[in-house]
Amino acid sequence: MNTNKKKVVIIGSGFSSLSASCYLAKKGFNVSLFEKNDTVGGRARQLITDGFTFDIGPSWYWMPDIFDRFFADFGKQTSDYYQLDKLSPAYKIFFEDDIITIGDCMEKISEEFERIEKGSSIHLKKFISKAQKNYDIAINEIVYRPGVSPLELVTKDTIIRLDQFFKTISQEVRKNFKNPKLISTLEFPVLFLGAKPSKTPAFYSFMNFADFGLGTWHPKGGMYQIIRAMKSLAQDLGVIIHTGSTVEKIIVKGGKASGILVNSEIIEADMVLSGADYHHTETLLDDSYRQYSEKYWARKTFAPSSLLFFIGFDKKLENIEHHNLFFDTDFGQHASEIYDHPKWPTRPLFYANFPSVTDESMAPPNNETGFFLIPIAPGLEDTPQLRDQYFDIIMKRFQTRTGQSVENNIIFKKSFCVNDFKEQYNSYKGNAYGMANTLSQTAFLRPGLKSKKIDNLFFTGQLTVPGPGVPPSLISGKLVSELMGKNI
Ligand SMILES: Cc1cc2nc3c(=O)[nH]c(=O)nc-3n(C[C@H](O)[C@H](O)[C@H](O)COP(=O)(O)OP(=O)(O)OC[C@H]3O[C@@H](n4cnc5c(N)ncnc54)[C@H](O)[C@@H]3O)c2cc1C
Repeated sequence: MNTNKKKVVIIGSGFSSLSASCYLAKKGFNVSLFEKNDTVGGRARQLITDGFTFDIGPSWYWMPDIFDRFFADFGKQTSDYYQLDKLSPAYKIFFEDDIITIGDCMEKISEEFERIEKGSSIHLKKFISKAQKNYDIAINEIVYRPGVSPLELVTKDTIIRLDQFFKTISQEVRKNFKNPKLISTLEFPVLFLGAKPSKTPAFYSFMNFADFGLGTWHPKGGMYQIIRAMKSLAQDLGVIIHTGSTVEKIIVKGGKASGILVNSEIIEADMVLSGADYHHTETLLDDSYRQYSEKYWARKTFAPSSLLFFIGFDKKLENIEHHNLFFDTDFGQHASEIYDHPKWPTRPLFYANFPSVTDESMAPPNNETGFFLIPIAPGLEDTPQLRDQYFDIIMKRFQTRTGQSVENNIIFKKSFCVNDFKEQYNSYKGNAYGMANTLSQTAFLRPGLKSKKIDNLFFTGQLTVPGPGVPPSLISGKLVSELMGKNI
């Protein structure tokens, strides 16, 4: 090891930390990463048991171009690490009286839209073409900027689209489509940004292009393959990874971070980067070095938490796809119970993922691996009774909508909710995927990548720039590494 190299310590091993570790190692820093859990990956870890493989966090592989860009920055391709398959169909949405299937190309999706609402495919084409332009602008002109100045958002393309920052995606969709099922279908992609469609700027329709234009993909073996790939890349670049290593304190001397305290041992560093939840990272500092008060965090719109179930079935299930949305209840009411009047949902929407439908490596032969997710408000009371109650609710609905009995075929069951998010990831209020991307929480208006109080302390991840989701986390790691490279 070259001891003259500047030393960076990184807290956490989620997508953003792993991404940053690769870029920093490539820049010539001596990088060590400290993760409290026993395996790397953060919210994207994997549970393997009894032949079932469960991704316990992200399951939608969207924006394949961002992953390609990440690996290309290191002279690699995703295919050097994992096999990527485009899902066909991409997903299925169950409504009370119908099922919408989203195909793997615009032609198939247009046909499905026509079936539901005559003439809607013409509006869809225009809507997606606008969304595609927004995608190009977002990816090429906005998201790869560090969020340090409002001017980053000002380009000739954004100026002529200014209205799209002040109209909401909800208004934009409703202007073009009347059928409630098509409206819900088109409002679904922005849910990944963590806020209600009625609070999300119309410009974010780029998520609709990510959905219909770029498609839904699956890395064979599950989403954890991306983490395995990044871990291997990081180690090849010289990053030293320590798991089972909880960072207890960020040590500050003379206004500079001089290292971290891990398992009662001081690890010295020239710069400290944290990819742990921003709020938690600030609690590792003495009060006077924190940038944001508890009041600040309490005022922010957080992405939902989730009640998750990992279920092993001893048979193949019927009438399902790899990804399935159950929008057979009132979208508006559930959203209001997450954001406006936080409480356990009266009639929850839910999502069910069965990766073994397309990838036989994910379950034992003739078995099915199931992941069920109910989005809920962060910070709700979480008890075993509530978990059981909601499991019964969604199982009944699942059986009715898919026309089969499955309750007696469950051979593995595990739940995960608010308390687990807090305990396993030090997540603020048990949020699942960070701080929402709304107009007032975008770019320079988000908590910054660089501390305003400590010159050599940096942050990355889904609570900072650019925002929640796996692709933004990869970008966040790149952005912060660039700032850190200039800090020397
Ligand atoms: C259920 C769920 C479903 C999702 N679905 C999708 C999806 O389908 N597609 C998509 O793109 N995104 C999805 N997301 C969002 C995506 O997973 C996240 O945005 C991304 O993984 C966040 O990465 P991160 O690096 O910011 O944080 P994290 O993954 O949370 O990493 C932070 C790490 O820091 C560690 N840490 C915390 N405190 C300490 C400490 N004191 N010392 C040491 N280590 C510490 C934590 O253990 C953790 O490993 C989903 C998230 C969840 C939870």
